[in-house]
Amino acid sequence: MKQASIALPAPHAEASPPADCVVQVAVPVPFADTLSYHLPPAMTDRVCIGARVVVSVRNRTLVGVVTALDASGTASAVRIRPVDTLLDETAFLPESSLDFLRQVGAYYLTPLGEVVATALPNWFRRLPAKAPPVARWWRLARPLSAQEKKQLASRAPRQWEILQAVEQAGVILGKDLAALYPQAAAACRQLQKKGLLAEQDSCVLENQQATTPDFELTTGQQKALEVIRSQQGFAVNLLDGITGSGKTEVYIRAIQQQLEKGRKVLVLVPEIGLTPQLFGEIGRRVTGRVAVLHSGLSDGARAREWQNVRDGKVDVLVCTRSGIFVPMEGLGLIIVDEEHDSSFKQQDGLRYHARDLAVLRGQRENIPVILGSATPSFESLHNARTGKYHWLKLRQRTNRSPLPAIQLLNTQNKPMRGGLAVSVLQRIDQELAEGNQVLVFLNRRGWSPALLCHACGWVADCQHCDVKLTYHKRIHRLRCHHCDREYPVPEFCPKCGSQDIQPMGEGTEKLGDTLAGAVGTERVIRVDRDTVRSANQWKKTLARIRTGQPCVMVGTQMLSKGHDFPNLTLVVVVNVDANFFSLDFRAPEKLAQLLVQVSGRAGRKDRAGEVLIQTHCPDQPLFQQLFRQGYEAFAEAELEQRAAAGFPPASHMAIVRARAKNAEQVEGFLQQMAEALPENPEVAVMGPIPAPIFRKGDFYHMQLLFNSHQRPALRRLLRQLLAWPGLKRPPSGLHWSLDIDPQELA
Ligand code: ADP
Ligand code: ZN
Ligand code: ZN
Repeated sequence: MKQASIALPAPHAEASPPADCVVQVAVPVPFADTLSYHLPPAMTDRVCIGARVVVSVRNRTLVGVVTALDASGTASAVRIRPVDTLLDETAFLPESSLDFLRQVGAYYLTPLGEVVATALPNWFRRLPAKAPPVARWWRLARPLSAQEKKQLASRAPRQWEILQAVEQAGVILGKDLAALYPQAAAACRQLQKKGLLAEQDSCVLENQQATTPDFELTTGQQKALEVIRSQQGFAVNLLDGITGSGKTEVYIRAIQQQLEKGRKVLVLVPEIGLTPQLFGEIGRRVTGRVAVLHSGLSDGARAREWQNVRDGKVDVLVCTRSGIFVPMEGLGLIIVDEEHDSSFKQQDGLRYHARDLAVLRGQRENIPVILGSATPSFESLHNARTGKYHWLKLRQRTNRSPLPAIQLLNTQNKPMRGGLAVSVLQRIDQELAEGNQVLVFLNRRGWSPALLCHACGWVADCQHCDVKLTYHKRIHRLRCHHCDREYPVPEFCPKCGSQDIQPMGEGTEKLGDTLAGAVGTERVIRVDRDTVRSANQWKKTLARIRTGQPCVMVGTQMLSKGHDFPNLTLVVVVNVDANFFSLDFRAPEKLAQLLVQVSGRAGRKDRAGEVLIQTHCPDQPLFQQLFRQGYEAFAEAELEQRAAAGFPPASHMAIVRARAKNAEQVEGFLQQMAEALPENPEVAVMGPIPAPIFRKGDFYHMQLLFNSHQRPALRRLLRQLLAWPGLKRPPSGLHWSLDIDPQELA
């Protein structure tokens, strides 16, 4: 084992700084923000705050970031370990960025080292340290005239296809293009020779000349932009605009305005699937360098783009959740699109909410923030209602087409076929005959959510989880959607021996089959995790839908978000009734958002859309309120109920979750934790209670729930909790985590 500083020679004693230089290094360890290391004299005049270093922690070698220099040193300094290697001679993370991460750590009560590890792209924490590889991206070399496009389309349809794909994406990785089109590489070279495509080594889309469409802004858009334009420092705007009200146009103009001032903009979007659309749109419209960063890129490509942004080579960054951490000097505005979306919340490790961090960062940097949605989160609506946020409402559709007509279809005692009402199947057929597209939404994949014995009532359960198994017909297997285990389908009931075992209820696989029987296999496009497994497959499927050919899309919530399907006239929603029985107080909010979002997909420029909801409970107050009075009124009533019940956003919550293979052990651990906490009248502590699914993958899950009207009181208690000695040595095999502002009670 290497010894610390005393063993190191100091050859140029007069010239070098004091040998006892100690640095603080942020490494991902529990319970400590940073660890102290001794800096060998050879490194002392090269080190700076924000540089990465290689250090050993217990028996592991890790990459950490220097967060403080302490040249004075102390007596203990001679016993601490040395830094192994200095990876950077300039600040890899700028100090402003470190300060932000410190604040994030303080908010989520998470050690700085863990926050830094979450914020840095994986590539930069890996050993041996290497520069990220150069990737090849394609873009259009210049805009094409309509005439040229027509020519290319007729003379070289393959090349035309590729060119369109590149134009749609803005810039696209050669590798991704090849995954979409087998002959892409050859076609790109030919297009390059013709001077139509150009190659570059980053995903930056550069536009010299901003373009402005010739329409007039709606009054709502104008007002919103006036408010945003007038903001000099920190301000949060809730851009609450119905689908088709032109929120993107507001974003784009607000971005352009910042670019003209020489400032930069960060745009957060919930999912990779949504990135290309917005990225392309912004890239075409604003003057500046626009780039995209998301988890669909390889580690290397992501690291490279991250570096480009940090080094000031990007003016507008469109990114998913983790992009909120990217250092960006001269930031002037942060936009969060679809701010209500739950994918902004990270559900493991550092459980941060990117929307909340956008507000925190906006405050730090003293700049405006725009949160946009057609169905704002109740948290944001609460802040708008109480005047903390500027409430900018867009209530007019830009094309003046009416909102879709929504109809509840009571399925009790109606003739049904394979999960769909016969009348619904007829309507679908009619729409297709008229050349339109239809979307059938069901948030459940597989053939049926249960396999049941009709003789004795036995139901096939997972042997490792407290859940029913889903029957998948194509593979003829039972699958657990929680632990991913598969089981053969029994021929006889294991309980009574009867052969009368049948799948019960329907998932997307079954609906797809029903629809194929009704309108023909070739017109059905199923979209769920079983049929669309990669980002590229998703792009292919989207491209197929966007051809506008009549088809029925059937799928899960992959289909519900932010996509424009120009020929879609009818949306059918199947079985949302289970949501009415959920224990989570957010279930009505989530359901309302989902219904409004899916409904928003219906309707074409020239024709109002229609939404049919199949339900057993048409009298549910949620439906009545939502569809008669609209989302805002619905939210208002719900917010009042939440306030009366003392739930967020009227209160603040935190959850400690624990799991172990031994149920008593989990309960005992949480019980002791609860008992160790001092009495605090300001904070309600509930539990230990079993999680909604108690046993999952052989682990028993339990939780302690904290709820308080006063955030400071809650934080004080949580700090006391984190100081409980029992946490330092939890029983072996027991895992625990703290979730501040949990989005799900599960
Ligand atoms: P949202 O994001 O609010 O659902 P979009 O931003 O997608 O709505 O806008 C819908 C369509 O309306 C887009 O094609 C956009 O170009 C167009 N649009 C935006 N603003 C206007 C306007 N003021 N007049 C006419 N069309 C507009
Ligand atoms: Zn049976
Ligand atoms: Zn399972």
